[in-house]
Amino acid sequence: MVEVRPGAVPASPSRLPLDAPGNPVTTITQGAGTAPATAAAGSRVRLVSIPAAQRREELKAVWQQASACTRCPQLAATRKTVVFGSGNADADLMFVGEAPGAREDEQGLPFVGQAGRLLDRLLEEIGMTRSDVFVVNTLKCRPPGNRDPLPQEIDACQGYLFRQLELIEPRVVCSLGNFATKLLRGDPATGITRLHGREEIRTIGPRALRLYPIYHPAAALYTPAMLEILRTDFRRLPDLLALDPPPQPEPEEAEVVVPEPEMVPAAAAGEPAPAEPDAAQLGLF
Ligand code: URA
Repeated sequence: MVEVRPGAVPASPSRLPLDAPGNPVTTITQGAGTAPATAAAGSRVRLVSIPAAQRREELKAVWQQASACTRCPQLAATRKTVVFGSGNADADLMFVGEAPGAREDEQGLPFVGQAGRLLDRLLEEIGMTRSDVFVVNTLKCRPPGNRDPLPQEIDACQGYLFRQLELIEPRVVCSLGNFATKLLRGDPATGITRLHGREEIRTIGPRALRLYPIYHPAAALYTPAMLEILRTDFRRLPDLLALDPPPQPEPEEAEVVVPEPEMVPAAAAGEPAPAEPDAAQLGLF
């Protein structure tokens, strides 16, 4: 893979603060079509603007912040772990699920239960493994009893997801099921039944990417017809990954962010710092 680094990386690439209000999806929707791949696999151009080491450091910092999050008091009180995400931090393909279940909450990793095993199988069928992709959820904490995420929880948690998208810079984002799809499209009215298997170009935060909604693997666990639909939709992923990256919006001038006193990290303010996150624990490849 050829990496093209357009220009210097700004000192603070955090263009999307975690507490940024609202949803940063700007709607540039195009029927993305099925243009053929323009280059053989292995020689594709990838637009990379964040060096790999910096990407991991920044992801660890966001993870550290998420690990101490108490924005949703009920979830913070009942969770065992914050399930930040795992996989290849340089991946071209990112999956966004709904929320951790019991096993994910126990292990601190996304999609390690039954739905995760199906996800692994579907990946294997298209010649990929979990080490080729990055997997996250819309909510980072398990809703008690696996209930649906509440709108206020999705609002409270979305900053982490948008920051992950900004740092990992995937070309293709596969939203699994309704919750991720509605959030990433900024359209709560249109559901996965209408949208699955149809990619579109969306600008999320500073970058344009191909959003590809598909059914959640959990929906296919006990429904063979649904599994076939999911398989069919999965088979398009290699073609989507072979497409050239979508045209990117003009980069904004890098802003110099001067932290206000309350933004100074706890350690700098004389309080004990939270434990340093360990990349292996985060499941970062
Ligand atoms: N379902 C999800 O949406 N996420 C997980 O991590 C596991 C099951």
